[in-house]
Amino acid sequence: MASQEIEALAGALARLPGLGPRSARRAVLWLVKRRETALVDLLNSLDTVRETLVECTVCGNVDTRNPCGICADPRRDASSICVVEDVADLWALDRARLFPGRYHVLGGRLSALDGVRPEDLSIGALLDRVDGEGVDGVRVDEVVLAMNATLEGQTTAHYIAERLEGRPVRVTQLAHGLPVGGELDYLDEGTLAQALRARKPL
Ligand code: ZN
Repeated sequence: MASQEIEALAGALARLPGLGPRSARRAVLWLVKRRETALVDLLNSLDTVRETLVECTVCGNVDTRNPCGICADPRRDASSICVVEDVADLWALDRARLFPGRYHVLGGRLSALDGVRPEDLSIGALLDRVDGEGVDGVRVDEVVLAMNATLEGQTTAHYIAERLEGRPVRVTQLAHGLPVGGELDYLDEGTLAQALRARKPL
C-alpha cells in the first residue's frame, strides 16, 4: 500500500489519455526509482511548458511562441492552408512532413449532438485569412480540408467548402481510402466505398 502522496501522483497520471490506473502506477514506480534523473527532467520539462505554452493567434497551434514555429517559418508555403479539427491532427500531419504549407486549427467539429455550432469553431478566422492580405504579399490560393472521415468531420468539411464558395481559392480534400498495407478483405464498407469513389487513373 503506497502513501497518500504517491497514490495522488498515480491518480493524476491515470487521468492522462491512454494511461489507465495500472500503467500510471508503473510509471510512478519507474519515476520514483529515477527521482534524481528522469523525474528531475520531467519536472523541468513540465515547468518550461507551463510557463511558455501559448496558442498561436494565427493558426491555433500550441507552441512555446506566438506565432508558432510553422507560421513563423518563411520556408512554409503561405499560399496553401490545411484545415484540421484539432492540434493533435496538425501534429500528426506535420510529423509526416508531406505538407509544405501552413495550417488552421478549427478547435473541433460541427456536431448537432454536442451542440457545436459554426461560431464555436474558428471558421471566421479561416475566412479572414483567406480574404486577407496574406503573408509577405503571398495570398492564400488553396485550402485543404483535412477533417476526420467521420460523419461530423465530413459535415464540417462541406460546411466550410460552402462558406468558401465564390472566393478565389481552390478547395481540396484529403482522399480517404485504403490504409497502407491494408487488405480489402479487412476493410469496412465505408472505407471501401470511399476508396472506390476516390479512384484515379493508373
Ligand atoms: Zn501558427
